Order: sequence, then C-alpha cells, then structure tokens
Amino acid sequence: MSIDQYAPCPCGNGKKVKFCKCVDNAQDLEKVYKLIQGGQAVAALDRINQLLQEAPNTAWLLATKSELSLQLQEFEVFIQTSERFLQLKPDNPLALSMKSMAVGIERGPAEEAARYLLDSFAESREDLHPITLTSITMLLGSLRATGDLSVAGFWINMFENLASEEVQAPFDKSSLNLLCRTPVTDLPIPRDAPYRERMTEVGALTKTFRYGQAESKLRAILRDFPDSPGPLSALLICQLAQLNRSGVADTARKLSVNKDVSEENRLYYGALALEVSADDELHSPQRIRYHEIADDEAAIQLLRSNSNTFEDNGDEGKRVQAAIVGDEVPAKCVFSVFDGSIREPGDHVSHQGTVAVFGKQTDRPCRVLVLASNVVGQRAEVDEIIESLDLGAELELSKPASFGFYTTVLERAHVKPGETIGPIEKSAQAKLVVRDCLNMPLNLFDGKSPLEIHEDESQRFKLLCFLYHLECSQVSGLTLSAVHDIYSGLDLEIPKSNLRIVGNEIKLDGPIDLLRFDFSSEDVEDQFLLAVYSEMVQLGSERKIRELCGVMYGRPELMKDPELRSMVIGQVIGQESNPDRVSELIDELYDAAIELKAPVGQIVLEKMGMLASQGKDQEAQLYLVDKIKKHPDDPYLLSFLQRVQGMQQPGGVPPAASPVANDSGLVLPGNEPSAPAQGESKLWIPGS
Ligand SMILES: [Zn+2]
Repeated sequence: MSIDQYAPCPCGNGKKVKFCKCVDNAQDLEKVYKLIQGGQAVAALDRINQLLQEAPNTAWLLATKSELSLQLQEFEVFIQTSERFLQLKPDNPLALSMKSMAVGIERGPAEEAARYLLDSFAESREDLHPITLTSITMLLGSLRATGDLSVAGFWINMFENLASEEVQAPFDKSSLNLLCRTPVTDLPIPRDAPYRERMTEVGALTKTFRYGQAESKLRAILRDFPDSPGPLSALLICQLAQLNRSGVADTARKLSVNKDVSEENRLYYGALALEVSADDELHSPQRIRYHEIADDEAAIQLLRSNSNTFEDNGDEGKRVQAAIVGDEVPAKCVFSVFDGSIREPGDHVSHQGTVAVFGKQTDRPCRVLVLASNVVGQRAEVDEIIESLDLGAELELSKPASFGFYTTVLERAHVKPGETIGPIEKSAQAKLVVRDCLNMPLNLFDGKSPLEIHEDESQRFKLLCFLYHLECSQVSGLTLSAVHDIYSGLDLEIPKSNLRIVGNEIKLDGPIDLLRFDFSSEDVEDQFLLAVYSEMVQLGSERKIRELCGVMYGRPELMKDPELRSMVIGQVIGQESNPDRVSELIDELYDAAIELKAPVGQIVLEKMGMLASQGKDQEAQLYLVDKIKKHPDDPYLLSFLQRVQGMQQPGGVPPAASPVANDSGLVLPGNEPSAPAQGESKLWIPGS
C-alpha cells in the first residue's frame, strides 16, 4: 500500500501530499499511517517521536502527533505539540483550529478560542477539517458553561452556512433568542459617504472571516466620522463574530440612540443591548427568603396540609435546592406552590415558587428556603406560607440565587386541575403568558412591571425594546395574538409586519417582519406559506415554525406532499395535548412514511409507547405485533427487539415521546416523570 499522492497532506494546510512538499520522506509517512490505520496509536506516536528527534520542525509530524495525543487524551502533550506546530506554521488552518481547542482545554477565554477559529476559517481552502468541527462544538460548550449563550446564536448561524451541515450545539439552540442569530444586516452607506471605498475593503475582509482586521479598519473610519450608522453596524457584526459581548452591548447601545437610524432598527439595537448586557436588566427579581426554623417536621406537616402546595418527591429537586444553600445533604422536603385561582372547572393554576425544608445538621440548624416569582397579583399564596411558617433568624446565602431571567417566569409551569391533573391547552397558555408579561416586575424598570410603568413617557423606549426582545424570544405560548394582546394591554400601537412579496421574492426590512407576519389569514397563498416556511427555518425561529405548521396542516393542497406532510405533522404533534389526537396524528405520520418508503420503526415505537402510557397495554401489544409482521426488516424495530431480548429487562424500553414538554424541570402534579422509570415499565415486551 502506498499513500495517495493526491490525498490532502496530513499537515492540514489543504494542499495535496504531492504538492505540499512538507513530507520529505514518503516512506516515513506511509509507516506512520499504516500503524494508525491498524489501530496502533501508541506505536505510531513512538515512531513519530523518533522521527521528531531527527527533524523537530516537521509540520506533518507535529500535526499527526497533536491529533494522536488528542485521541489518546494526553492533553498536556496535545497542548505543547500544537503550540509548536502553530509557531512553525502560523497560517496553517489545522494548527489554528488546534490552538483554539487548546485554549478551550485550558479553559481560556472564549474570545481567544474564537479568534483562532476565525483565523482558521480565513486560511481554509478546503472543507472544514473534522478537528475544526470539534473545536466549534467545544467553543459552544464553553459558552454554555459560562452561561454566555447570548452571542452563541451568531456563531451557530455562521458555521451552519460554512460547514453546510447542522452544527451539533451542546445545548438546545432552539431556545436561543433570535436577535443574535440574524442581526440586522449592515445599515446602508450613503451614496456620497466619503468612507464608501473603505467600507468596500471592510466588506471584503468580513467575507473571508478576517473580522479582527475589519474591526481595525472600522475603528479608523469611526475616528474620522464618529457615530456613522453604517460603520457602527458593521463593527457590531465584527464584535458578534469575535464573541466580544461587552463590545456588542456598547455598540448596540450607541446605535439604539443614533438619530440617523430608523425607529424600527433603533428598537432592534436597544433589544440587542439588553440581550447581551451583563447587568441582569432582563431579570425578574425573585422573592428569596432563607431562615432558620425551630422545627422542621412541624413545617413539613404544615406545608403538606396546605392545599396550594404539591410535594416534589424527586431527588433531583432536593439536590438542586441544597446546592443553592451550599449543603452537601439534599433538602428534606421540597414543595411547589401553586396559586389558588381554581374557582371553577377549566381554571388553571400557575407555579408560584418552591419551598425547601432542610433538616438539622451538626453545624447547621433546621432551615427553610423560599424562592418565588414576584408577578403582581400572584403573590398571596407564597406570602401566606411565609407568614404561617414560624421563621427564625434570617440567614445569608453564600452566593445569591439568580435564576430570574424573565422567560423563565413566562414559561413557569401551569397546570389544569381536573379528574386527572394535566397540562393546559396552548390557547390557555397564551392567556397566561399575556397576564404574566404585563405583571412581572423587571430590573429594567427598577422592579416595576410593564403595566405599572406603561404610562411613564420616560420609560417608553425601554418598554418597546423589551417587547422587541420578547417578540424575538422562543417563549412557548407566545402566539401572534398574545403579542398583540400584550401591546394593546399596554396601550401601545400593535406593530405591523413589513413583509411583502415582490415578484416571487419575499422582502423584509428585518427578521422581525417574519415574526410579526400573520400567516393564518386565508388570503395567504399556499406557495407563499411555503416560502415563508423556508425563511423561518433559516431564521431558526422554532416558535414561529410551530405556529406556521399549524396553519399549513390545514391546507389540503400542501399536505399532498408526503415529505412536507411528515415535517408538518411532527411539529403539530408537539403542540397537541389531547392523547387521542396525538395517537391519530402518529397514524398520519405512519401513512406519510409509507408513502415516502421511509422506515417506520420509530413511529411505530412512539405509537406503542403512547398507547401504553394511556394504559392500553393490550392495544399496544396487538399494534406492535401487527407492525412487526408488516415490516420485518425495519432497522428500528429489529434493534428494539434485539435490545429487549438481549437485556431481558423491561427498564430498557426506549421512552415514548411524550406530547407534554415540561421544560421547567419541575415535577408537577400529573406530570411526574412516569415514563419509563427504571425497571417498572408496564409495556408488554415481546418474548418476556
Ligand atoms: Zn504538508
């Protein structure tokens, strides 16, 4: 076997081996790669080390050694070797990606890791190296770890365009606010602007990922022509790309008060400044009480007998509460408090907060911790509990608990008590979002709610920026009519969409026009809905995609296409809370898959889980047997059967996709994590 002279050179500079010339001796290369391909990484590394003694500055040896040491998880070696590799080849895209990764491994600043990655893209001529993709994932992971996801959206978009594949973000990217994902593109440069030519140079630099250089040029332009909106908006893009969060906040704030920027765009920049600001302005202040109590058992009895509480028996919640107060031992009991607004059937209750009781420890007394939302008109039940508990001395939390981003208040759990306590319908959820949005206090308004400040002219711009931010959020239940209700509830004009069709093209002034467009109107043509759909997918607006799919599902002509149909039904299922309806929808999904000649196994298993979770075990059994007969070669069904037979343990059944997404992480009445707790699944298992 000999190395293909036309394969990319292992040094990663993008040239073919034949033309790279960094390999002096093809025999060495062949020997090393033979060992690697034979799975003998350690032997290959030994060989490389020998070769490096003779020729310490050989790029392909350093590159391969870095890669191998990464595989073997010898991070020290990786960091040293990749450092040497970069010193030797400062423009090599692989060396730059590796350096970015080394920064990540050493937990260096994300901006630095980003800078090396951008340099790597700038130098890349070929498709992205797998190492580069790993570097991106690592960078996104470190953003998540530092809770700095506000700027991550821009990166995800940039890489999805670059890598022409989905970036596997190590977090749920559909929860990201859209403000960063698709920034308002460069503001127009006046035709007679004296810096016009220099802006063309900036454009050429940003096109090739040289954002650092572009930034220097822009700063020079802004020194000569301060506060020009065009250069400022281009600077903002450079800062987003370089993950310079405080820079983004600063520039966005400048643009938001710039008289030469349109009102609409000023609101966008104001909202963006709020999104990236480190000042917690978008947090809703919580009520936090942490006190000594004399008798933990008495407190628990009291909480259990309170009709507004629900005891959370999961261990996770107890550990989370303990972490907040810095205890090693989990909380003794945790209660969720719901409001008592159940006056007639159909009313809903909303989660108000949690009360945790901690037992006595050698160095600590019994204690109680209350964390509650502070929505106006929604405080009585928690207040009542605080009063009824015989609280002793107030204690200090070692680090202040802060999980009050406003979206968590809007997405707090709401449940509908009834024969079986279940989740609530989307329309009811929308009403609650409107209520909470008007009444939740925000740091931005010095602890007052939008309703409390809406008549204050001096707060008007801030209020509109907040609402713009809200419209770009992915809060579930925030339908277009909910948005309208919020604006009219605050006596504000309802914002209009500037979306229009010119020829066959959709024209927008900004991404917000997509979000504000009412596509439920019957006048909107099928083809237009399709076009909006693909724009939405590009934008990454999960919330609006769900809404749009609900509309498309009702268009018979569109639903003739099985591929589109299965995509649409997938979204519709996620919004349906009625289990019988979910069951029907899964059948429709099955039919679409048959038409597409696609594997149906996953769908079958989902339906079976669905039936079983409704207690219809027999029906589930018959259904599965029937489908296995029909599709004996289906890979999912086969692997399901193998797993079940191999494990002989019912706990291994794949979880049925639940139609109820409870993102809050709370355990709610009727929404306990019942589906499949280890070893107690009620599913019928073939062969058991
Ligand atoms: Zn080479």
